[in-house]
Amino acid sequence: MPNNVHTHTFDAVIVGAGGAGLMAALYASRKINVAVISKLYPTRSHTGAALGGIGAALGNVEEDRWEWHAYDTVKGSDYLADQDAVDVLCKEAVETVIELEHMGLPFDRTPEGKIAQRRFGGHTNPETKKPVQRACHAADRTGHMILQTLYQQCIRNKVNFFDEYHVVDLIRVDNTIRGVVAVSLATGEFHVFHSKAVMFATGGWGKCWEVTSNAHSLTGDGAAVCLRRGIPMEDMEFFQFHPTGIFRLGILITEGVRGEGGVLINGKGERFMERYAPTIKDLASRDVTSRSIYLEIMAGRGVNGRNYVHLDVRPETVNRYFEEAGDSRRITAQFIEEKLAETVDQCRTYLGIDPVTEPIPIQPTAHYAMGGIPTDVDGRAVVDAQNTVLPGLYAAGECACVSVHGANRLGTNSLVDLVVFGRRAGNHMAGYCPGAELLPLPDNPAGEVMAELERIRNNSGGTRPYVLRDRMQKTMMANVGVFRTEEILNEALETLRELRAQYANVSVDDKGQRFNTDLLEAWELGCLLELAEVTAVAAQARTESRGGHARDDYPERNDEQWLKHSLCFKEGDGYRLDYKPVVLGRYEPQKRVY
Ligand SMILES: Cc1cc2nc3c(=O)[nH]c(=O)nc-3n(C[C@H](O)[C@H](O)[C@H](O)COP(=O)(O)OP(=O)(O)OC[C@H]3O[C@@H](n4cnc5c(N)ncnc54)[C@H](O)[C@@H]3O)c2cc1C
Repeated sequence: MPNNVHTHTFDAVIVGAGGAGLMAALYASRKINVAVISKLYPTRSHTGAALGGIGAALGNVEEDRWEWHAYDTVKGSDYLADQDAVDVLCKEAVETVIELEHMGLPFDRTPEGKIAQRRFGGHTNPETKKPVQRACHAADRTGHMILQTLYQQCIRNKVNFFDEYHVVDLIRVDNTIRGVVAVSLATGEFHVFHSKAVMFATGGWGKCWEVTSNAHSLTGDGAAVCLRRGIPMEDMEFFQFHPTGIFRLGILITEGVRGEGGVLINGKGERFMERYAPTIKDLASRDVTSRSIYLEIMAGRGVNGRNYVHLDVRPETVNRYFEEAGDSRRITAQFIEEKLAETVDQCRTYLGIDPVTEPIPIQPTAHYAMGGIPTDVDGRAVVDAQNTVLPGLYAAGECACVSVHGANRLGTNSLVDLVVFGRRAGNHMAGYCPGAELLPLPDNPAGEVMAELERIRNNSGGTRPYVLRDRMQKTMMANVGVFRTEEILNEALETLRELRAQYANVSVDDKGQRFNTDLLEAWELGCLLELAEVTAVAAQARTESRGGHARDDYPERNDEQWLKHSLCFKEGDGYRLDYKPVVLGRYEPQKRVY
């Protein structure tokens, strides 16, 4: 092994320090020696940007049951979620939220001192069909509070953190896992982490799209690394567009705004969601709401004929609709300032408008990966249509697909997913590692990826990464976005293949070792290009519309043919698709009506 490669040994390494990685680390570190490797300082992970809430049927404000939460999740998923996993999610959500409270998470409170809950899209009481107050929140900074709380607990547990280390490869020998390879951002040196178990908790890949709510760092590294090492990607055609991104910027306006009474208004001043979802209106699931906004815009009913509509949370508007609906709630300017503090701040900072007195211009924004590394309910990676476990490999959080979100995720369910399945994966690793053997490292485990990074560093005169990134993002937005057809997907695939070929000549300006973000961003672009192509391949094959995947040429859901998960394998220069059945349970697939 070259002498500038450092080697570390742990029972388990967790890649990613967002909610999923930290929850797993907290549990695993009680029994085994774990390292958390993160390309960002932990509290900068995207979990910290989550605003609106974490769903759990605590029933603090009105009657609620975990089975109702499960029903909503399955219905929201357009029946593609695995119902055994959904049961785990919704049942364990309740105890996990209380556990977070006991760790010191400062939730908002009801007057009686219980955790406060609010309405969110797709969360209902199935008996009355009305929205139910299920989202537990700390103002609109829920993710920030979760991340801070978990990080403090991990520090207390003496978890070993490797901050600003960028994982670039997984060491897999046949069907065994031996560790990961990382680059230290500060020095450019390679580090091999030798371990019995590896868990990916690397988050999503919203940066494949031009308008996105996702942070700069969400480039799908963990998923891409697994794909390259023979792990299939599940349900990649399903990528969620959140209905309310700030026009052109994509910055997210939380669904909590509509949960507190905010309404969507088109250019003609109409509350158009009444037409698309007569019962639940502005709180329909995200796929339905995003498509409705698109249809309004395409019909020329955007505001001032442009590609946006308004989200109106001004007290006079909201109170008028409450009154019309016989809803006794009323909101005030002060209420908005307190309950939606972050949102008010964002609008003032990024738009120069005040949501207390002006409506907010919004458009759908690429938000959340429903698909990813296939796992079972203990976070173990499963690598084929028979759900064969690859011992020692784990994943949880947004990079994983367990699958609880199916074809469309409900708001608040990602934060639940992180803590419930992060905890399960951490616990499982704690049980697995003591009996597992630390298998020897292969010769020169970092060699392959070192050569790849050196190639990028030393290329000269080739294509600049930003040129490729820009074309990829525009193509994904136009052709693999809210609406898709055979024709535009074919076009996208052609462009993406061309970009992949050009990527072989990509070159960077910075040839140095220290803090070479230029080089690492070029490497990240390779991950994005790969995941973009997998998304388009899976989307082209699925000739139906379901959840976040809407085909104009196949507008209906087709359960006979397509009630199944896709698995996309990388093979040589191309991709191969396979499928596996959905785990059904209490809820038979029905047409979704909101
Ligand atoms: C603006 C916004 C608001 C949201 N609001 C909500 C909400 O209210 N409720 C809800 O349920 N969900 C919400 N979501 C979704 C939810 O926040 C995310 O899905 C979730 O936080 C992802 O958590 P994670 O632990 O999987 O990964 P992240 O929190 O994204 O963390 C990823 C981690 O992986 C590390 N990493 C990545 N690549 C590498 C690499 N190559 N090497 C080393 N480390 C790496 C990063 O450093 C980081 O620590 C929101 C998302 C956004 C973008």
